[in-house]
Amino acid sequence: MVKVFDADRKLARVLWKGRVKRARAFRLSLLFPGLGQVYQGRLSAGVAFSVIGLFPLYYLYLVGKGLNYGTVTLLAAQGLLYGLQALDAKRGASRETSPCEDRCPASVAVPAFLSFAQEGKIHESYAAFCVKSPFPYILGRLCPAPCESVCGVLPGRPLKIKELHRRVGERLLSEVEVVKRSPFFPPAGRKVAVIGGGLAGITAAYYLASIGVEVEIFEKEEQLGGLLNYIPDFKLDFELARKELKLFTSFENIKVHLGVEVRSLPENFDAYVVAVGAQVEKSFNPAGYTGFFLTPLKFLREPPKLKGKRVAVVGAGDTAFDVARLARRLGAEVDVLYRGRRESVKAQEAEVRAAISEGVNLYTGCEFKGAEGKRLIFSCGSSDYDYLVPAVGFEVDRELIGGLSSENSFITGDAATGMTTFIEAVSRARQTAVAVAQKLGLGLRCWFDEDFYREKPKGAKSCGFICSEASLCEHCGQSVRS
Ligand code: SF4
Repeated sequence: MVKVFDADRKLARVLWKGRVKRARAFRLSLLFPGLGQVYQGRLSAGVAFSVIGLFPLYYLYLVGKGLNYGTVTLLAAQGLLYGLQALDAKRGASRETSPCEDRCPASVAVPAFLSFAQEGKIHESYAAFCVKSPFPYILGRLCPAPCESVCGVLPGRPLKIKELHRRVGERLLSEVEVVKRSPFFPPAGRKVAVIGGGLAGITAAYYLASIGVEVEIFEKEEQLGGLLNYIPDFKLDFELARKELKLFTSFENIKVHLGVEVRSLPENFDAYVVAVGAQVEKSFNPAGYTGFFLTPLKFLREPPKLKGKRVAVVGAGDTAFDVARLARRLGAEVDVLYRGRRESVKAQEAEVRAAISEGVNLYTGCEFKGAEGKRLIFSCGSSDYDYLVPAVGFEVDRELIGGLSSENSFITGDAATGMTTFIEAVSRARQTAVAVAQKLGLGLRCWFDEDFYREKPKGAKSCGFICSEASLCEHCGQSVRS
């Protein structure tokens, strides 16, 4: 039997019901103090708000002295309390979140997806991740995993959170078939154009389409993925990655236009999500250099034959190390030259270590000074190189953004902030989807703006690494209360 992924639909409906309930509780609390909390099942909070809220009125009735400073102050305090209890009902019961969720740029519900993983419920675990971010597999490969630095399971031994959602993603993607599916909510009668088919654009499209919005994605390249397409294949299984991109664009109300460059806003849309990234390579002047000069994206897209060649990579971000590691694999001798100090290298530490262990040389405190023929001169020395690849960063195309701006445009992802990590861009895109939905009057449907927590089960099922590693989350030293 064909297996399809639809666990996010069930979870979305549950979260949406909670959202509707909170909205109803808010309205009840406006009718009578504390009623909203009672409706939510928080009896003691409801009774406390009712008593404290009504007492001043009763007091005024008893004293019966009309308006004076004392009674005005009392009424003002009561008004404040009335507002606070209404806000409390709107927010619902709160909880103390875990350090890993707090540190994840997208606030992924780590304890929730781990609790499902611990029970071997792969589909539910994958869906729990999707509440705050799509792409458990891709991010499980490419995220710098700041969450692990604060994991409190054991000192010096964080849980392998990133590897866990990668493996959950691998399991799910290898067993499901991606088929067209209907949105989670009835058609909303609204249409949104998403300009840019990278991870940020797909994130916004996924969440908006899930709530019944008609979405059209415009991508200038011949395939979706944006910068993902420049990741070397030793870092990502592209077959699975493509399947994951397909999964998140599989709603029947998403239309994808490939090979279409949009420089001005298309007509007949209610809103525009501009997720064109930051892919303009910063300029670098190699005057006097007579070897091959390649920009990093050109290099990563079509790497030349490099056996026995010498390659200089200038810069120390993730892209610089992607270039260096790929060049090394192609048989080159590779030097990464960076003008800053070792501590300020921007690439993920694991990447730097992997590159060095593969034979890449890293030189810090080396500022580029110029070139004479094939000789490149740096502040720390000079040498001959066959290829020069300056990976000195990316910029936003301001002219393009200007042409796509309007009162209904939402600039998001790296286009809004400049180059960041994939998870940061995805997180911003989800927040943009919330803002767009609110603007279109669909805020109540935003299941992806809800908090999600699930009690940790006791004991682990036997499903190998996923279940046993996830079960360690039970022993988190940090309290996570619902
Ligand atoms: S996306 Fe990154 S930061 Fe968030 S939970 Fe996964 S590894 Fe951690």
